[in-house]
Formats: sequence, structure tokens, C-alpha cells
Amino acid sequence: MTGLQNILNTRYSIIIALCAIFVACPSRGQKEAAPTRVEKTLVMKKGETLETVLDQDIDHRTTIAMIDVLNAAGFPFRYCLPGDSVTTVRVHDTLRQIVYKQNLMTVWFVMLDETQWSVAMKLPYIDTLCCLTKGVVNSTLYESMLKLKETPKLVYRFVDVFAWEIDFVTDTRNGDSFFVYYEKTFCDSTFVDYQNLIVMRYKGEVGDYYGFYYCDPDGNEDYYNKKGESLRKSLLKSPLKFSYISSYFSKSRYHPILKVWRPHHGLDYVAPKGTPVSSIGNGTVIFKGWKGGYGNLVEIKHMNNFKTRYGHLSAFAKGLYQGKKVKMGELIGYVGSTGLSTGPHLHFELHKDGVPINPLKVDIPRAPSVKQKYQALFEQTRDSLIRFLTVPDVPSDDTEAKGNT
Ligand SMILES: [Zn+2]
Repeated sequence: MTGLQNILNTRYSIIIALCAIFVACPSRGQKEAAPTRVEKTLVMKKGETLETVLDQDIDHRTTIAMIDVLNAAGFPFRYCLPGDSVTTVRVHDTLRQIVYKQNLMTVWFVMLDETQWSVAMKLPYIDTLCCLTKGVVNSTLYESMLKLKETPKLVYRFVDVFAWEIDFVTDTRNGDSFFVYYEKTFCDSTFVDYQNLIVMRYKGEVGDYYGFYYCDPDGNEDYYNKKGESLRKSLLKSPLKFSYISSYFSKSRYHPILKVWRPHHGLDYVAPKGTPVSSIGNGTVIFKGWKGGYGNLVEIKHMNNFKTRYGHLSAFAKGLYQGKKVKMGELIGYVGSTGLSTGPHLHFELHKDGVPINPLKVDIPRAPSVKQKYQALFEQTRDSLIRFLTVPDVPSDDTEAKGNT
């Protein structure tokens, strides 16, 4: 508790009494006039306190009274953060209410009841809505989904589910279509976050892929394809989310710097310097450092005798060291142009049993399928979910959200 609040506590009742008189008087005698209600909202900035914000709109004596009643009501001053808002409500030029919106989720009211200020707290009205977003790829999937007014988070979640099936770097084409049926939460009609992605589909030249979220009665949850096979594999398809391949795996390639023909035992992903590079699977870092033409290199050993190499990195991820265990998708470094390289790109290699193999051709084992005993249950769920993708007109989330204030 601050010293100011301690002082305030000692004169709490006096201030309340003063305050009551102060605010009660002017409202009399104005009964005849039409009520004029004026609201003013101030947003808390860095370095400000509730007191300094209130002082911008009301007199200091009233500010202190407000802080005092809030303090008595257990208002969490320490959680006041930049971005919180304070709205003062005046009726006939008399302050009647202060509304404090804390962290989007909680609303505090300080109101004048008869002659006394009182405090009320409103817990947020959280609502979850199911939405369908569907569209056609034009340029990249990322841009096409953002054009539908969704946030990058939804694109990443969608890409993550299909990450083992589709390489969105190389496999997307203009005209491909995508569908995703998911839950969105709103707090008092303001969008908060995406929840479950329930069912999705990606249809294009690469194939027609479905992803169904399913949790069996034992609590095992995953995304499955139509057959009930897990969409997850032990390795991801790509160490970068969005870029393109400039040089493929080949037994003989003309080297742009060495000016000789020699095998290229990996893939080159062109991406801007600094683009995050992640490990394509769980594993252990077995090399981190400078290695000749590779420049800055990370080497990771995975299960089933797989090994991956990530070369030409501009920098390593913070805290990465030889011997560190990394998770699938974990950041390991950043795209660069170190070593024998003509421009920023990631040189990526996949080895199986010590031999470099083509990452685009390899068949990686899947995570477990739906258990046989639950297959019928899964198919029932699948058939009911698939209908959501074909619903012609799901109410737009905007109208729905506005309807629940
Ligand atoms: Zn290369």
C-alpha cells in the first residue's frame, strides 16, 4: 500500500462526507432541465497512475475521494497498466460515475448513490462464437487470410495443423482454397483470442487435405485426417514458415561461388536476413558454431536416426548451446549469409542414417492414429464437423459480437 493510500485511509470517512455534500448539492434545482450526459475517456499512459489520470479531468479533492473509496473496496492499484481507460460520466455538469476498464477484462464503477459514493465491479461477459473463414489464395496464404480481417495468429495456427502435410512455402498456388471453422472469444464484444480450431480444409494442386480436432474418451487430443491418422509427424516439413526454395536437392548443381558442378545435399530457402529458423523436430543440438562454407551452422540429432543441418545463419537463438534439447518448432537461429553464400538464405539438410536425403521426398512416420476402439466415434464426430465447412452463410462475427453487449 502506498503512503498516500495510508493517509487516505485515516481520513476516509471525512472525505466521503465532504464528497457527498459536494456532489449532492448542484444536482438539485436542475430537475426541470433535460438531462445532459457527458462522457470523457482518458487512456492511461506509461508512467501515469490512476490519481494523475483522474486529476486531468476532475478536481484533486474528488480524485482523492475516488481513490479512497476504491481503496476501501480492494481495488488492485498495482495492476493499473498503460492502456487501461478511465471514463468520467457527468450529468448536468455533475460528476456521477467513473468507469475504470482494467486490462480489458474487468470494469470498476464508482457511482453516486443518493449522497454516497459506492464501488461496483463488473466481471466481463465472455462469449465464445464459432466462425467459418474461407477464401481463395491470391499471392500467399498469409496475405489471403489477413485480407479476410483475421490476424496472423489464425494463419499460424492453420499452417501449424497442416505443417506435416503441406509445405506452405512450396505447395501453395493462386486459386487454392482454404476453410477453417474455429472458436473466437469476445470480452464484452471486443475480440480477445482464438480458441479451438475445430475443423479445416486446404484444397489445391497439392491435394485436398482435412484436419479434424478430436479428443478421445481417454483424453488424447490431436488433429486427424479423414481416416483418423494423426496429422502430426516426428518432423516438420519446413524450418521456415514463409519463404521460397531457390535451390533444390540435387546430385549435381553449378555452384554460384565456386563455379563448379557439385552435389547440393539440401534445400536453400530464400528469406530476408533475420527470419526465424526453427528446428523441424524434437532433438539435441550436436553442433553450434562456424563450419567452413556453412558459415554459422546448427546441427540437430533427432529420433529414428534423423539429423538436420541449418547453415549460413546470421545469428543463433539466445541460450542455444551444444547438448541442448530442443522441441519441434523451437527457434534455433536466424537466416543470414555467412560462409559460402551469395545472399541471405537458409541452407537446410536432412540426413537419415548418416546419409543426406531429399527433405521433399522423405516419408516421415506419423504420431499415433485414433485408437481402433474409438474409430467409430471419431467417424461420427468427423461427419458432423465436416458439415460446418459447407454451411453457406454463417453469421458474420462482427454482427454477432455487437449483439451481446
Ligand atoms: Zn544450399
